[in-house]
Amino acid sequence: MSYDTQPKASHFIDGAYVEDKSGTPIPVIYPATGKQIALVHAATPAIIDQALAAAHRAQKQWAAMSGTERGRILRRAADIMRERNHDLSVLETHDTGKPYQETIAVDATSGADAFEYFGGLAGSLTGEHIQLGENWVYTRREALGVCVGIGAWNYPTQIACWKGAPALACGNSMVFKPSEMTPLCALKVAEILYEAGLPAGIYNVVQGLGEVGASLVTDPRVAKVSLTGSVPTGKKVYAAAAAQMKHVTMELGGKSPLVIFDDAHLENAVGGAILGNFYSSGQVCSNGTRVFVQRGIKEAFLNRLTERLSTAVIGEPLDEATNFGPMVSERQMNIVLDYIEKGEKEGARLVTGGKRLDRDGFYLQPTVFADVTDDMTIAREEIFGPVMAVLDFETEEEAITRANATEFGLSAGVFTRDLSRAHRVIAQLEAGSCFINSYNDAPVEAPFGGTKMSGVGRENSKAAINHYSELKSVFVRMGDVEAPF
Ligand code: NAD
Repeated sequence: MSYDTQPKASHFIDGAYVEDKSGTPIPVIYPATGKQIALVHAATPAIIDQALAAAHRAQKQWAAMSGTERGRILRRAADIMRERNHDLSVLETHDTGKPYQETIAVDATSGADAFEYFGGLAGSLTGEHIQLGENWVYTRREALGVCVGIGAWNYPTQIACWKGAPALACGNSMVFKPSEMTPLCALKVAEILYEAGLPAGIYNVVQGLGEVGASLVTDPRVAKVSLTGSVPTGKKVYAAAAAQMKHVTMELGGKSPLVIFDDAHLENAVGGAILGNFYSSGQVCSNGTRVFVQRGIKEAFLNRLTERLSTAVIGEPLDEATNFGPMVSERQMNIVLDYIEKGEKEGARLVTGGKRLDRDGFYLQPTVFADVTDDMTIAREEIFGPVMAVLDFETEEEAITRANATEFGLSAGVFTRDLSRAHRVIAQLEAGSCFINSYNDAPVEAPFGGTKMSGVGRENSKAAINHYSELKSVFVRMGDVEAPF
């Protein structure tokens, strides 16, 4: 392979690449071929300590800089990311197997958006003045300290930036651990931040499996933990952070409902369902994988969906024409195949797909099940693959009740031409990130995150500032102190 995917070293600490080959080897596999394209090593206790010590040492000085100065560095990083979009996208494609057609449009660009947006906000982060007669209170918005970011494997560049940008804008430092499945992209984010002028120690990347994440979370130098991952991991990380009363952001999984009414614009509803189930081969947390379709439009919906899915270009992800790539790993592919088997066994009707492709790599067909009922495993559990479950419904009330009958609450969508119904239904759906006549848009200006078991806190938008800073209030007395003794 002519493109060099092997990083200079496994970790990026205190402004430089660092290696320690005594850490557990982590081979990096290109999902389109199943071949190894790089090797990194998990952080040893010494590496973890080095990263946390650097982040701890550097943070106070970073927080003491003006927000405008911090923001300038983040905005410069955004520009560099945009200039290097092609190379970063090729790397993201190698790391994840997602088609270049997606990575060139979504990954480094949304990372750059985060640096630009929070870089812009950094200079205007202020407290307030509260007058109380002649006395007064002022609040200071202060950094939390060292933040730990832990990432999932589906959007390695984006996650590294969505956590890093608000953390750094608020004056925190960060130690980021990417998923062991996709260790390459976060190192490039760190490199770019330093090129943009970030002081050493403020953004560090260490590799490793869950145990490395666990030691970061429990270290007393850490003030906050932001995890993107599954609900089971979220429960463990949240509990560990709670033991030391740390701040958390939890971006976890989902089984989100997409409700399509009879009066929906058919082409748009099918388009929304495709985006909400098959983008990134279905490996998107907010996907609307329970597609509730009102009876009157069901056959037309399924026919058009099947027609459009037959035009998917499945192939080598680096080919610009490809718009559907492999699963991230053999393991994830097998998990999805198990769910497909369960769907068939439990009596769902396989409309299209359902098989592994006969070629190298971890490719599955885009898969649609119809006549799915609420009790089936494929309607209850997050599959995290290209498997859509279509469920029928009759009335608005029924759709809302059934859509909410889940422990998850990440996203929800509604397709209808009736605007009052759209707003009425979306208001009743229990989810954090919702869509009307659209699906899976995630602009940096909008809060993103889940309710119920899907998470705690919000990423992006001004809301993220509250999760990466805290308020100190200062009461100022202008006159004498009256004490009883
Ligand atoms: P995962 O939970 O297996 O792993 C996530 C990260 O946590 C990895 O970096 C892993 O090494 C680390 N980890 C595992 N055990 C840990 C522990 N005990 N302590 C600290 N860290 C630990 O998730 P995954 O398979 O990488 O990603 C898929 C999941 O992520 C899906 O459930 C998906 O919905 C979710 N996800 C959520 C969002 C969101 O923003 N809500 C975005 C992307 C993915």
